[in-house]
Amino acid sequence: MGWRSVNPRLIDRVRSCNEQPVNLEGKYVLYWMISNRRLNYNASLEYAAEMAKQHEVPLLVLEEISTSHRFANDRICTFMIQGMLDNIRTFREHNIRFIPWVETPLSGPSGKLHELSQDAVMVVTDDFPTYFPLKAVKYASKSIHRRMVAVDSNGVFPMSWTDRIYTTAHSFRRFVHQRFVECLETWPRANPIPKHHSLWMEDEDYLQLSSQWKFNVTPFEWLWRASEPGSSGRNALSTIDIDHSVPPVPRARGGRDTAVRMLREFLANRLYRYADDRNEVTKPATSGLSPWFHFGHISTIEVVQRILDMGGWDPETIQMDRKGAREGWWNLERSTESFLDQIITWRELGFNNAFHSPEHNKYESLPGWAKTTLMEHASDERVQYTLTQIEQADTHDDIWNAAQRQLVRDGIIHNYLRMLWGKRILEWAPTPQIAADWMIELNDRYALDGRDPNSYTGIFWVLGRHDRAWGPERAIFGKIRYMSSANTQRKFNIKPYLQEYKN
Ligand SMILES: Cc1cc2nc3c(=O)[nH]c(=O)nc-3n(C[C@H](O)[C@H](O)[C@H](O)COP(=O)(O)OP(=O)(O)OC[C@H]3O[C@@H](n4cnc5c(N)ncnc54)[C@H](O)[C@@H]3O)c2cc1C
Repeated sequence: MGWRSVNPRLIDRVRSCNEQPVNLEGKYVLYWMISNRRLNYNASLEYAAEMAKQHEVPLLVLEEISTSHRFANDRICTFMIQGMLDNIRTFREHNIRFIPWVETPLSGPSGKLHELSQDAVMVVTDDFPTYFPLKAVKYASKSIHRRMVAVDSNGVFPMSWTDRIYTTAHSFRRFVHQRFVECLETWPRANPIPKHHSLWMEDEDYLQLSSQWKFNVTPFEWLWRASEPGSSGRNALSTIDIDHSVPPVPRARGGRDTAVRMLREFLANRLYRYADDRNEVTKPATSGLSPWFHFGHISTIEVVQRILDMGGWDPETIQMDRKGAREGWWNLERSTESFLDQIITWRELGFNNAFHSPEHNKYESLPGWAKTTLMEHASDERVQYTLTQIEQADTHDDIWNAAQRQLVRDGIIHNYLRMLWGKRILEWAPTPQIAADWMIELNDRYALDGRDPNSYTGIFWVLGRHDRAWGPERAIFGKIRYMSSANTQRKFNIKPYLQEYKN
C-alpha cells in the first residue's frame, strides 16, 4: 500500500513532487485544491479519495485562494470566491470536510498548508503548468515534510503523454487522433466520491484538530459578502492587499452552477452553428466557458463527454484516413467536429507547450523565422501609443478601442477580435518584445481566463507561434500574419458591438 498503488486509470496523471515519506501515523489525506476547483471529473480529488480509502483515514479538502501574486485583483478573487461557495455546498452534500481559505491579513499567518500537512498521511494537489499554481507547488513540495503528489486534471489528455513540444496544431492534432481512444481510460469519474464512504472526519476529531490551528478558517459570512459584485463585496475585499482597480464582472458569476447552465444553453442553442458562426462578432456561436475552465470550475472532459454522448459517437466509426485533418476524423456533425478541435487540439496545445517549456510565456520561445522577420522590421516606422493610451482605449481605431473596453469591462474579448486586438498592439508598440509584454500585462490583468497556458498560446500566436510565414511581406509585421480592422469591418456586422462598447 502507498502512493504508487493507484487506480491504473489515473496513474499517468500523477506526478511525485518530492521524496518525503508517507506518514503512516497521519490522521487524514489532505487535498490542497489550487486549480481544479470542483468535485466532478477531478482526477486530483479522485486520487486523494482513493489514497484516504487505502490508508483508512478521512479526507480533508483545503481550497485555497492566494492573494499574493502579481495579478490578484477584485475581479478574479470574486469569481473564485463565488466558485468556492458552490464548493462548500457540494462538498457538504458529499460528506467531505472542506476548508475554504482565502489569504487575508485577518486569516492568520500564512503556512496553513504547512500546518495541515503535519498531521497528514500525504498531500495531493493540482498540477497546473503555468503562473502561480506552478510556482506554489514547486515551493510547497520543497518546504513540507510529507509526501506530495500533483495530479493533472487539466484536459482530456494527461500532459505526461507527450514527450516534446508540438509546434503546429496539425502535428498535435495527429497526436490527438492517434491516442484519443486510449486516453478515455485516463478520465476521472463524473463523481469521484462513492455514495457510501467513510471519508468524513467526525465532528469530535475535527474540532480537536482545528482547535490547534494557528490560522482562522475564512468565515462563511465574509465569503458570502465578498462574492457580491456590488458595494458589500468591495467592502469585504478592501481588507485584502490586492489590486482593487479591476472590479468584478457582474454578468459572469464563478462556480460550477453557472458553468453547467451555460453549457446546457450552448449545447441546445449554439453548438450546431459553431463551424459557421464562431467568429460572428454580434452573436458568436461560442460557449463562453473559458473563465470557468481556467479556474477549474468545470472540466473540459465533462463537456467533451456530453458532446460525444449527444452525437452518439462510437470509436468504431472513426475515419482513420482523416488522421490529422480538421474535419472528418470523428465522423460527427461539422460544427461538433469544429468545436472538438478547439477544445481539445487548440486548448491542449497550450498545455503541451507550458508543460514542456519554462519559456512558454517568453518572447524568446517564438520560432526562429518569426523572431528573424520581426527583428528585420523592428525599426520600421509606426504609429506609436503608450501602454497607458492602449489600456485606456485611447487610439484612432474604433474597433480596437471597443475590444479593449470589452476586456476592461467584461473581462473577455470576443475570439476573432482578440486576434485583431493582439495584432494591432504589435503594430503600435515600440518593439515586438514590448508588444508581447503589453499583451501579457493587459490580458493577465483584465481577462477572467488570463494567466492560463492558452493566454500565452494566443498572445504568441499573434507573433507567429503555431503559424507559418505569410506574404506579402509588410512593414512592422514582416512575414507574420496580418489582420486589419478595415477587413474586420467588411467581414462582420460590427455596428451593434461598437454601440455596446462605445465608451
Ligand atoms: C491574443 C489572444 C489572447 C488569448 N488569451 C486567452 C486566455 O487568456 N485564455 C484562454 O483560455 N484563451 C485565450 N485565447 C484563446 C481564445 O481566444 C479563447 O480560448 C476563446 O475565445 C474562449 O472563448 P470560449 O470559451 O467562448 O471558446 P469556445 O469557442 O466556446 O471554445 C471552447 C474552448 O476551447 C478552447 N479554445 C477555443 N479557441 C481557442 C484558441 N484559439 N486557442 C486555444 N484554446 C481555444 C478554450 O478553452 C475555449 O473555452 C487567446 C487568444 C488570443 C488571440
